[in-house]
Amino acid sequence: MTARKNTLSETPPRLIFTDLDGTLLDHHSYDFGPALPALERCRSLGIPVIFNTSKTLEESQALARELGIEAPLVVENGSAIWLPASAQHATEAARGKIVVLGARRSDLVGFLHALREQEGYSLQSFSDWDSATLAAHTGLSLTQASSAQQRAYSEPLLWQDTEHAFLHFQSRVQRAGYRLLRGGRFLHLLGQTDKGRALRWLCDHYHGLWGQAPRVMALGDGQNDSAMLEAAQIAVQVRSPVHPFPTLSRASTNARVIQTQLCGPEGWNEAVQAWLDETQ
Ligand SMILES: [Mg+2]
Repeated sequence: MTARKNTLSETPPRLIFTDLDGTLLDHHSYDFGPALPALERCRSLGIPVIFNTSKTLEESQALARELGIEAPLVVENGSAIWLPASAQHATEAARGKIVVLGARRSDLVGFLHALREQEGYSLQSFSDWDSATLAAHTGLSLTQASSAQQRAYSEPLLWQDTEHAFLHFQSRVQRAGYRLLRGGRFLHLLGQTDKGRALRWLCDHYHGLWGQAPRVMALGDGQNDSAMLEAAQIAVQVRSPVHPFPTLSRASTNARVIQTQLCGPEGWNEAVQAWLDETQ
């Protein structure tokens, strides 16, 4: 309902793409409380807030339900886009569908295990762990850890070998047609996609739906957010308590880069509120 209001406003329709861990959610506690005032304004203005995360569809849908958000979900680092069944967010042909941009996890895990066996690399991935081990590595609850293991398009891993061996591993991954992305806690093995590719796909989708190009803000705190931030007109580097801002090499002069003063969801609230204030 609100998205339609968005198309009728005088400013171009707006979209927000956001990373979750360390951005909308606190890096340590996974709390989103400080972002609620800005989220509420987005809801009342009809601005879709689109999760663009390394998390799974199951995890993302649970959080979207908790926050009362109905919008597309980009999961597993741009590997797949889930479109809701509602007319505000999807063309008739695309409603309730999943668009796969990446690779299948079964292929990725098969490749990883065969390579480890062959080369003797020291690494562990989600497929080696039960939910309790994953919970211990991440601080997630058992239920959340179980959801995190319902992966379909990527395999997070911990590299426990030398830097030299890593360079070799990386070239083997590239030769196989896959790629590695560094997230907040894990390396992610996935297909030839990233969060930026998914953002561009959805911008085209909304352009077709609304008949007007959206103005896009993207927010992220990690290196795996760089492609998403580079693809947005307004790139928000959200401060992290544990690592530097994601690196950006922006060519477009139209693009704006904002670095938040505050960390995680407090920084999210700061940047989104400021944007809404200036574009109302
Ligand atoms: Mg993050």
